[in-house]
Amino acid sequence: MELTVKEIQVWLDKFTEKIEANKAYLSDLDTPIGDGDHGNNMGRGVAAYQESLAKQKPTTIPDTFKVMTMAMISKVGGASGPLYGSAFMGMTKAAQGMDAFTSQDELQTIIAAGLDGIKQRGKAEVDDKTMVDVWDAIVGLIEAGDFTAEAVEAAKNNTKDMLAKKGRASYLGERSIGHIDPGAASSALLFESLIEVL
Ligand code: ADP
Ligand code: MG
Ligand code: MG
Repeated sequence: MELTVKEIQVWLDKFTEKIEANKAYLSDLDTPIGDGDHGNNMGRGVAAYQESLAKQKPTTIPDTFKVMTMAMISKVGGASGPLYGSAFMGMTKAAQGMDAFTSQDELQTIIAAGLDGIKQRGKAEVDDKTMVDVWDAIVGLIEAGDFTAEAVEAAKNNTKDMLAKKGRASYLGERSIGHIDPGAASSALLFESLIEVL
């Protein structure tokens, strides 16, 4: 494996494309258990990322993550903006001084730092039916050498039967059961994009 700044930027370009192609899907997931804006929120975030990327032309991995951090924090609004911002901030810090990720171990460390950022910010744990469930699963999948699109999809689908304990969906209590979490779905797009550059 060799992920240099070039592959990292291709990863985030693919993420941008998948968010744009799935805006309606993500907002539809957010309709029964939220306020129906997750696709638009994420769409604003990736658009802001592309705009800053073109202006700032970062040449390192941490500087690229930093551009995503700022885009998510400043343009998304909603719960997901600061949470994705914290994830990318965590990855920015963990990638400091690195020119490339060259092993599963290094990649796992980076994603785990993103997960820590989300948990510190949102205080959600595994099984609370949030994006944490996908990020946590990915860290485990990388460790197990089973980081495949099918496994990512399964991690997303696992949130369907969970009872939401954080975010807007938690206001619904038992009625949150039976719906895939929208933030888990957008996170799945992020990791499916990553698999495409590995
Ligand atoms: P909002 O709920 O403010 O409209 P979004 O719809 O953009 O924001 O994002 C909702 C998603 O944010 C949820 O599906 C969930 O994955 C995630 N989320 C909400 N609260 C938390 C939290 N405390 N920790 C982790 N993720 C959370
Ligand atoms: Mg919402
Ligand atoms: Mg909202």
